[in-house]
Amino acid sequence: MVTRPVFGGGKGDAASTHTSADWPLESDPVPVPAWSEQNIPGKDVGLLAARPIRRGERIMARTPAVMIDGASVDALPVDSFAGLLHDAAASLPEPHRGQFFNLSTNYGSTGEDTSENEAYQIFATNAFRTGVADGEPDLHSVFRDISRINHGCQPNCAYFFDPATLTHNVYAVVDIMQGEELTVAYIDPIQTNADRQAKLHRHWGFGCTCARCSLPPHRVAESDDRVRSIQALLTTLDDYTTPLPEAMSANVTVGPSAGELLVLLFELEGLHARMHEAEYRLALEWNGVGDALRATQAARRCLDRGLLVRGAEQAFLTNMRQLVADPAAHWSWKFRLDNGEKTGGEKNNTK
Ligand SMILES: [Zn+2]
Repeated sequence: MVTRPVFGGGKGDAASTHTSADWPLESDPVPVPAWSEQNIPGKDVGLLAARPIRRGERIMARTPAVMIDGASVDALPVDSFAGLLHDAAASLPEPHRGQFFNLSTNYGSTGEDTSENEAYQIFATNAFRTGVADGEPDLHSVFRDISRINHGCQPNCAYFFDPATLTHNVYAVVDIMQGEELTVAYIDPIQTNADRQAKLHRHWGFGCTCARCSLPPHRVAESDDRVRSIQALLTTLDDYTTPLPEAMSANVTVGPSAGELLVLLFELEGLHARMHEAEYRLALEWNGVGDALRATQAARRCLDRGLLVRGAEQAFLTNMRQLVADPAAHWSWKFRLDNGEKTGGEKNNTK
């Protein structure tokens, strides 16, 4: 009899009475899927957390069902493109073919309709832009399951496409309770309520009813005011040519206090999937006045959050790693104090 190895003793000792053929043990817990597909009133289908999900957990990783060169989307007449797309999707092996044609369109669930127009509508509603490398043409990809995640303006999930493995990854950016709907942002959430609603109507044909959009009017007004402050701060902070003394006399908001305010506004607006962008600015502002320790703290937070929602291969993460390694050697060292001698370093690129 071959006994199942027990590592570290303790609670596992009882397992040593079983043979290797028992693996997995009947008493071992079956992994619980993180989500289940459900009909959601007013939204067609969505994904709900089937158990508590911790911040940072990868919820799914999918390779595309269909991948299309962006140049063909732009160059071909819609009829020709729809025909080619339909032929490609119709030739997919099952169950992928069924999963593709069962995706929602802006006009509701498609069910059994597998016409060319339906294939095009599915593509128009569900495709993600998935560039493979900088300078390469865009690819448009449709993924099963991931396309089922509905939009929210304070999303609890974020996704990024990993060109090395051709996988789309979805991560929880906050702790998610069982039964809570999984959401991602289809649009830039740093927009006023009216702008978000207009964009969602125009591109996806729905009005958003998320918690942020359903606030009473006086709180919508406060939220919109915070959004406008964020937009203004991003403009002034991304101008690396304004030295702090000059900015203070001109009432231009730059420097570490402005960076702290930006982080606070992101938190108040629930922009969990975008916090790395605020921390990035804060790290540069602290380094810009020569405070290496505080710059490193913000850079560490930027790295932690950025790695979660954008993957490892991003220029802004390299930038932050360089700052952490040697703040004084980083391009941003004391750039706010240099009275314009330095014209600033690399363009901000945390998006
Ligand atoms: Zn919303």
